[in-house]
Amino acid sequence: MITKECPFCSACGARYYGSRDAAIWAACRACRSIFRDISATDFEDLHKQAEDGSTLIPRAVGASGNQPHADVWRAIGLAGSTVLEIGPGSGHLLAAARDAGRQVWGVETNPAHRAHIASTWGIHTVHPALSDLPSGQTFDAIVAINVLEHVHDIQGFLQALRTRLSPNGEIFISTSNSSCIVPRVVGPWWSMFKEVDHVAFPSAAGMSAVAATAGLAVGRVWTSELPLETPIGFAVAARDYLRRRRHGAGHRDAAPGRPPAAGTPATRPAHEVVDRKAIGRVYRFRPGWEPSARLMARLGRAASIKAVLTHPTKDLTHPTQR
Ligand SMILES: [Zn+2]
Repeated sequence: MITKECPFCSACGARYYGSRDAAIWAACRACRSIFRDISATDFEDLHKQAEDGSTLIPRAVGASGNQPHADVWRAIGLAGSTVLEIGPGSGHLLAAARDAGRQVWGVETNPAHRAHIASTWGIHTVHPALSDLPSGQTFDAIVAINVLEHVHDIQGFLQALRTRLSPNGEIFISTSNSSCIVPRVVGPWWSMFKEVDHVAFPSAAGMSAVAATAGLAVGRVWTSELPLETPIGFAVAARDYLRRRRHGAGHRDAAPGRPPAAGTPATRPAHEVVDRKAIGRVYRFRPGWEPSARLMARLGRAASIKAVLTHPTKDLTHPTQR
């Protein structure tokens, strides 16, 4: 029996979707979003555990060194002079925005991540909470990548962002897509269900519903993924399933409520185990060979869902090109 209402469309009576480790997952019958049946208090404990066990900085620096993510910043394509990133983590994107001439701020709950951003990029405008930002300051661009899946009260979160959004500003969100083909096939064996404090994955309908309730309008919503992300998502699910069968519930991946173990590929999301060298070899062998990412995006079933949210009154006659 699922007690929690859908965090996206507020519908009650969600169906049981599946369970993995100690987590019970529900699927909304109305908007088809997927969410964890967990109280706000229990979620706070998980979030703290995940923060204490975070291995994001060494992984991000290992993957990108100290090169800002300029290509990602350009692809997001948000206009204006002021940028707020929620959950900047290692700061690679925030540094790219700063290098592109923007004034940048961040909200990052993890003190180790804030310290890293200050020492590595010299950015000292990253605060623990939205309420720590300069009073009355609003932003032309607000970015939240891989954040929403860690948020328990999504409506409250978006309402808070709206109060910090300039009249013509845009909020860019990227999170895990509940309509992704991988969980439709493998259920809770999708690697996104493995992260200790993941609690909610929207569908496009769910994203639109929660934006409207928070007083925002959806400028655009779409899905996309990295090359090979869907095939790798299936491979990781199969590997985890077989491992569990071999080792039983005592295997460390199965320990309930534990933060991910440091650096082991088994505990990373699928998109982080993409072997970029291997992909590079594939592309050199047959350029443009990998069609699944484009196909999944066209079907709305790619691994991540992206949305641009605005104030309902924003003039959309000149949409941002991206
Ligand atoms: Zn719903």
